[in-house]
Amino acid sequence: MDLSLRNLKEVQNQLRRVLESLNDLPVTDSNQAELLRTLKQIEDEDNEMSKLKNAFEQLEESGEKEDSPDAVLKKIAEIMEESDVVGAFEDEINRIREKMEEGEEDEEEMEVVSATYSKKDPITKEDIKEPVKNRICGHVYDKDSVKEFIQMNKANRMAIYQCPVQGCGNKNNLSMDDLAPFPKFFELCK
Ligand SMILES: [Zn+2]
Repeated sequence: MDLSLRNLKEVQNQLRRVLESLNDLPVTDSNQAELLRTLKQIEDEDNEMSKLKNAFEQLEESGEKEDSPDAVLKKIAEIMEESDVVGAFEDEINRIREKMEEGEEDEEEMEVVSATYSKKDPITKEDIKEPVKNRICGHVYDKDSVKEFIQMNKANRMAIYQCPVQGCGNKNNLSMDDLAPFPKFFELCK
């Protein structure tokens, strides 16, 4: 029994180490989903481990002696079934999850290029009618124009269709998901 408890503590120490290294990893667009999945696995394991450890402790405290290893396991399974013990690292995991979920924007958000905007859509060079702003680089396009631009590039299976503003540092392909309506544009136009 003692040995098992020690093993469980060792497993928890390992979980803690995995958590620490997970916490140190930079979160990007491409690894965010995977990191969150990994974190979820650790959370499940943490819950399971904590329940198991708690069940062992309860059994020891009760002083009940089961006659066979099978009976011990059965008893432990019963305790775990009813257990509402939360994972030992629950708070830590929640904190890391929050950080991961917002991490993406921190990494990618660039300094907004200028406070005043050209009235012209960078793709068609015509006046913008329905402004949408790229949350990554801050550039503004006409919604229909950029939508068509993206569709055309996808239809032609182009590998690269980045922000068309000259000198823009945003290396992501354009995506409607990164664009948000920007009604304030008309006030800020030069
Ligand atoms: Zn841009």
